[in-house]
Amino acid sequence: MDRALARLDADADDLRQHFERDTYHGREYFSLPDERHGIERGTVVVDDTVVRGFPSIPRVLVLDPGVPDFFDGPVTIEEKLNGYNVRIARVDDEILAFTRSGYVCPFTTTLAREYPLDDFFEEHPEQVVCGELVGPENPYTTHDYAEVEGAELRVFDLRHRLRGDPMAVADRRECCDRFDLPQVPVFGTHDLSVAVDAVRETIADLDDRGREGVVIKSQDGRQALKYTTSAIHRADLAHAFDKPFDYGRDFLFARVIREAFQAVEFEDSDEEARERARDLGEAILLPAIESIRAVDEGETVGDTHTVRGDAATVESLLNQFRSLGLHLDIERDTYVDGERVVEFTKVADASRDKIEHFLSGGTIDE
Ligand code: ATP
Ligand code: MG
Repeated sequence: MDRALARLDADADDLRQHFERDTYHGREYFSLPDERHGIERGTVVVDDTVVRGFPSIPRVLVLDPGVPDFFDGPVTIEEKLNGYNVRIARVDDEILAFTRSGYVCPFTTTLAREYPLDDFFEEHPEQVVCGELVGPENPYTTHDYAEVEGAELRVFDLRHRLRGDPMAVADRRECCDRFDLPQVPVFGTHDLSVAVDAVRETIADLDDRGREGVVIKSQDGRQALKYTTSAIHRADLAHAFDKPFDYGRDFLFARVIREAFQAVEFEDSDEEARERARDLGEAILLPAIESIRAVDEGETVGDTHTVRGDAATVESLLNQFRSLGLHLDIERDTYVDGERVVEFTKVADASRDKIEHFLSGGTIDE
């Protein structure tokens, strides 16, 4: 641990105090729960190896002049996929997959090992493969992609595990191709003078297809900006408001603001703005109404996930969730073709309890 931390350009003595210890199959590791001294949240130390956390990507609310002001050369537009962030590294011959917060996830680690990563790490032992895990069968997110059946990786970055610096976009895409690592879709590289138009067109198309948005990147991969579709703002709200008391109010505010700026920049007519407002309102209110009805009828509320894999991996994932205090309702637990398939709901206790309280006449101070 100390030798690893000494390699970082940061106050190692103070940093050490903030790392939290955990184990994976008996192997000890430490992760950093919050950003400290410029070292990203989710940074992990395993033995003498540091794997830096994935940096936060800023968002623009207005593409023009947001994009030309932020970059100073051509940009590549990549699709922003909606799943969960994973970093995959090889530490002393063992491939491990970390979640954003720096937890070695047994489910994701097993899944990662199905990709041809051995060849990649032979040539690039100090790189971390950063990607989004997408698809219907995963324990963290619920967004579906028609082209993904189970759970699949899409790579969007290759970074040096200690320094955190990214490979240039073109090199990274070529490298992933060469090693058969699946990547996020790309929508071309554009001069700054035409970048705004290119992003707007891409966003309009992604919005029609119900997809999340884009990440716009400088050629060296060091600068990135995110921008999202109206479709995902509504989907996020619908997803939050069927558990209205489990999400903070900031979550709602941020998405209303994104929509308002998008309406202005995309020059919505009065009629279009009205339609946007109606859709937004429906995305918020209808799921909330449905959940109140469900609780009234004695049903549970919460997100339902399906996971598939070898029995031990699935068991250790469920145990991990329970040890974190999550309340799980197991809806189905079977074997299909030798794999264990579990469908479970992460019960939204706060929403259910509050809804029950108000349904039985409870009062609120506001
Ligand atoms: P933060 O604001 O810290 O980045 P967040 O979880 O709120 O965290 P998001 O709004 O989902 O972040 O946007 C950033 C995330 O988008 C990345 O962490 C990554 O997991 C995901 N992502 C999906 N596609 C891409 C892509 N093409 N390039 C970079 N990141 C991508
Ligand atoms: Mg995301």
